[in-house]
Amino acid sequence: MFLEVCNGCDHCGTRCLAGFGVTRPEWEAVQAFLAGQAAPELERIEAQEKELPWPGAEELDARVRYCRFRDMEKNRCSIYPVRPTICRLFGHTEWLPCPIEAVPSYPDGAAALWNAYRTEKRKPWEGWQEKENNASMSNA
Ligand code: SF4
Repeated sequence: MFLEVCNGCDHCGTRCLAGFGVTRPEWEAVQAFLAGQAAPELERIEAQEKELPWPGAEELDARVRYCRFRDMEKNRCSIYPVRPTICRLFGHTEWLPCPIEAVPSYPDGAAALWNAYRTEKRKPWEGWQEKENNASMSNA
């Protein structure tokens, strides 16, 4: 992968929209990462407005919801070290291409990786959290 062209670039971040699915191990990795973060930092990111006018379509009143882990103030992913597979592939595959066409070519194995990954059970972040909450309540 040509990650060196990504250094300092955040164009992919403008596509960090809510609602995509992640696997249970990915969700668990994020939970473990968050457990090690300072509470004020987590609260700062959670308090940010994530639903905003769609850039370039403000006159249509179109709105877009960004990923809950997008740090809107610092324009970065707040869980970058444990970001899920789809985020790692973004900009580095033919079907999730680099938005500014800075990545010169894509790895041959990306399609096979994605095909294997998409056979895994996936839910949005909130889906796994809800399942966890329900399990906790039934054990109480
Ligand atoms: S987890 Fe990070 S990289 Fe993935 S969509 Fe959310 S903010 Fe973007």
